[in-house]
Amino acid sequence: MDIDGKGVAKEWRDKIRDEIINCDYRPCLAFILVGNDLPSKTYVRMKERACAEVGVLSKPLYFSEDISELNLLKNINILNNDDTIHGILVQMPLPNHINSQKIINNIDPNKDVDGFHPTNVGKMVIGEDDCFISCTPFGIIKLLEAYQINTKGKHVVIIGRSNIVGKPLANLLIQKNDKYGNATVTVAHSYTEDLTKICKTGDILIAAIGKPNAITIDMVKSGAVVIDVGINYVQNKIVGDVDYDNVSKICSLITPVPGGVGPMTIAALLHNTLQSCKKKI
Ligand code: NAD
Repeated sequence: MDIDGKGVAKEWRDKIRDEIINCDYRPCLAFILVGNDLPSKTYVRMKERACAEVGVLSKPLYFSEDISELNLLKNINILNNDDTIHGILVQMPLPNHINSQKIINNIDPNKDVDGFHPTNVGKMVIGEDDCFISCTPFGIIKLLEAYQINTKGKHVVIIGRSNIVGKPLANLLIQKNDKYGNATVTVAHSYTEDLTKICKTGDILIAAIGKPNAITIDMVKSGAVVIDVGINYVQNKIVGDVDYDNVSKICSLITPVPGGVGPMTIAALLHNTLQSCKKKI
């Protein structure tokens, strides 16, 4: 059966919209986009549209490919000091001459609604509530919750160890937390030996690789829950990392691509922006 990320995300966005309609504050999210990368432009446009739908204001700041690192840092500093801005999103990837981590490190952690700043990551790892959780792992946790998929004692296999998906997600799932944690987590990556054998032991299998059809039916335990994070463009079509057509025959639940994790990531961003605004007020 499909996990309806689109539907769960809509319910979440509706709650956010209702809360904003019924209050006297307007959250505002600043978008920084550097250069002309087409997918990045599309992602920013999608997020801006989602903001507008729930009543979050957008402040777009678009810079040319050759902006200097110093100039970008100056702009971030202006946003950090602007009380009308509650969230700052820097669309990745940035051009090679800019040190992305340095940019992230200079965002005010209280406005880091993407949850990438070391302060937020550190707090999340030690289990503090007072932090922003990065949007994709947060969205996945919410999706598991919505489908009452209990992770306690379960073996979760995550394929991919990026700072935005694999690593934070693994840390969340091992937290001593009855709502979403208490799992036993294995993180696999490009150097993992015998990936198939490891994947097959996963009660919950989460693919965040960035390669179409990388997870095939022989890698999945019968009855497993499969979360496909991947977004890949194949002949102008968006597909995930999982061979959906075959894997969906043997697993219990699976997120489709599109319509699974993607909408939850955006809803999590709106949630974090609203929380940031409420904290400020
Ligand atoms: P990344 O490139 O930073 O990381 C990919 C990871 O996959 C790496 O850790 C690498 O070790 C691992 N990997 C690559 N090839 C492998 C292989 N053959 N076997 C095992 N592991 C392998 O990517 P990312 O930023 O984490 O994103 C992963 C995918 O998720 C991409 O398709 C991206 O577009 C998508 N994504 C989707 C959302 C969403 O909202 N749905 C959000 C973020 C990323």
